[in-house]
Amino acid sequence: MNSLNKEETKLLTAEDPVEFNFRGINQVNVNAEVGMTFAKALKAFLRQDPDIIMVGEIRDMDTAEIAIKAAMTGHLVLSTLHTNDSPATISRMVDIGIPPYMLASAVTMVLSQRLARRLCQKCKTPIDGYTHEDLIGMGFAEAVIPDLKLYGPQGCSVCRGVGYKGRLGLFELMEVTDEVAKAINAQVPEDQLRKIAIQEGMVPLRDAGLLKARVGETSLEEILRKTVITKESLPAYLVNPDIEEYQDGDIIVRQDNVDKDFFKLVRGAVLVVRDGKKIAEIVQPGEYFGEMSAISSEPRSASIVAKGRTTIKRFPGDKLPEVIEKYPDVAKHLFRSMVDRLEQANNIIIKLADGRLRKTA
Ligand SMILES: [Zn+2]
Repeated sequence: MNSLNKEETKLLTAEDPVEFNFRGINQVNVNAEVGMTFAKALKAFLRQDPDIIMVGEIRDMDTAEIAIKAAMTGHLVLSTLHTNDSPATISRMVDIGIPPYMLASAVTMVLSQRLARRLCQKCKTPIDGYTHEDLIGMGFAEAVIPDLKLYGPQGCSVCRGVGYKGRLGLFELMEVTDEVAKAINAQVPEDQLRKIAIQEGMVPLRDAGLLKARVGETSLEEILRKTVITKESLPAYLVNPDIEEYQDGDIIVRQDNVDKDFFKLVRGAVLVVRDGKKIAEIVQPGEYFGEMSAISSEPRSASIVAKGRTTIKRFPGDKLPEVIEKYPDVAKHLFRSMVDRLEQANNIIIKLADGRLRKTA
């Protein structure tokens, strides 16, 4: 408020209650008991044609409606809502009753914030012992893990044995860019909006927290306690699937079985065997196999046998619809594998047909 407070700007606030007094700002105490609600205060403000309005909190349709109207008629409106993160603020306003098209044009940005305890810089102590998988699961990017230096609390006379001293803010800023506005207007689900906001540059609260942990300002446990990993991040069964080792000749999938898991080749190779005959070989690391049963719910049409020492990742087949729906990048690889295999099969059929035609000719 202080940075906006200039001689030539007219600034009005409605607060419940007024906590700090600012010079040059007209502050009104909201008191529902005597009929002075946020909505009433706002209406009174608009008659005074201010430049900037601060509304302590938006929690009902009356307040939300006037705040949006004020914003749409050229006033800068600042307010707070209690939600989990920035994209959730949009859903909350829609729930309150504001039409999405109005939000798309009236909202400029949403800042979400959390307070976390700051590590006592006198006694903080290096922490290791997190596994690579743990760190990935918490949201760290692969690239930063090798150089990661994390600290934890210890306790000394400066922090009176607590290990933490003072607090720091974690911020998630969602700018309503053209793309974000389009998404709000189209009423996309909240996790989709979050995804678009991230593409448009929003750093999620968890990532903001991990950044603070990386520079030793706070501990990882404090960040895990204060923030949640967003739905945008991959679930455990994708980040950290079961890894299995096989020896030459081991059967990974048995023909006619009704299991539905699917797999990704990590190392080695596998043979696809139908009725005792080898019909294909999968040798490309990263290639998926066994997904047909998960899609069709039919018994296994072939056996998959390890060729030499082979390492695979196992994914739960019942999660396949979720993978396709929510993790298009993973689904894309999966379908690429299928398309490649179908092409191979097609080529074989064409060759066979070709040979037969020539014989007849
Ligand atoms: Zn200390």
